[in-house]
Amino acid sequence: MSQEIIVLEGGLVVDGNGGEPFAGSVLIADGLIQEVGDRVSHPEGAVVVDCTGQAILPGLIDAHVHVGATMVDFGNQSRVKPSSLVALEMAGRLRHMLDVGYTLIRDCGGADWGFKVALDEGVIPGPDAIISGRIISQTGGHGDMRARADHSDPRDHHEFGMVFSIADGTSELRRAVREEIRRGADFIKVMASGGAASPTDRLECAQYSLEELTVIVDEATRNGLYVAAHALPSVAIAQAVEAGARTIEHGNFLDEPTARLMADRGAALVPTVATYVMAARHPEKYSDPPEVVAKIGHAAEGAMAAVEVAYRHGVAVGSGSDLLGDEIAWLPHEHELRAEVVGNGAAIVAATSANADILGRPDLGRLNVGCRGDVLVVRGNPLEKISLLARREAVRAIVKRGALWRCEERE
Ligand SMILES: [Zn+2]
Repeated sequence: MSQEIIVLEGGLVVDGNGGEPFAGSVLIADGLIQEVGDRVSHPEGAVVVDCTGQAILPGLIDAHVHVGATMVDFGNQSRVKPSSLVALEMAGRLRHMLDVGYTLIRDCGGADWGFKVALDEGVIPGPDAIISGRIISQTGGHGDMRARADHSDPRDHHEFGMVFSIADGTSELRRAVREEIRRGADFIKVMASGGAASPTDRLECAQYSLEELTVIVDEATRNGLYVAAHALPSVAIAQAVEAGARTIEHGNFLDEPTARLMADRGAALVPTVATYVMAARHPEKYSDPPEVVAKIGHAAEGAMAAVEVAYRHGVAVGSGSDLLGDEIAWLPHEHELRAEVVGNGAAIVAATSANADILGRPDLGRLNVGCRGDVLVVRGNPLEKISLLARREAVRAIVKRGALWRCEERE
């Protein structure tokens, strides 16, 4: 994509920082936001997009996706789909995310370095990606997809898709972390508690010992990476935070003391509400065994309350979707469900500047001068109608890295 000079003119400016919205314009040039205000200059050669009746806001950020989970039943994916098919489906999912307004995603397990390069170099269209590579899990943990009677080798030799690195004990874990770093991970993702989709573990249990988690964090941080921990119950959240994990993923059963601990230690929460709540509302979609369906229902019960607890205790709260396979159609629900708890304005901040800060990219997710030119134009006002977010038909224009990816003519 070549860089352009773009004026998004006369829309409702929603800055992503939670500031008061105002009628104004945004000038983007040299890949960056150059001016934001009531009026902006019109350099020669600028493409002017009339945004009357529309909102101008930062490109959305999703802090927890699995682009490689092209099936809801992802535990079986590498048995039934060849890598070639999975790769092409992943390209389609990435394009979909850009099309509905995401300009950055953090893949919490599944996409490898090749996808990151392909996006970076424009080989395939999509948001920019921050990747963890394979998810590190203990034997029988949330990344071990074997059923009880399956005694096969748990190590998955696929390069990408929904792939896990099964490792136990401190020396195996050092090697597992080093291997993901060697393969190009931007951060390390670890399963620190049970989860819904795994067939043999309990949702309420902490996985890995404190000693093991501490080794994972040590190995990651010495190499300049941070650790993101999948953890639902407070016992697992507290242990992961104690070990030094920087982000807690899901956190469905976050209680008040653990929220205080997170705030004290500066650990951020990335709730993923839609994946649990919507799945619990649609059990007919799942061919999962009854134990898994029951775990989804249990996890859904806590998801919304945990968001409220985290906000009330001053935890940095981001936004992730964690949707699998065709559940990707539920992306708008992540924002709608969040808004039921904290309101539309805070839901927009979570998916823009709060996510950018949690992901260590303060140059994204906000309409500030000097930030990267990742900007959306949406038909209508998402502060009044949050369901406009992440909906293809609501997106008028998308600017990524200062270039128009799509701009529909005025209707
Ligand atoms: Zn996930």
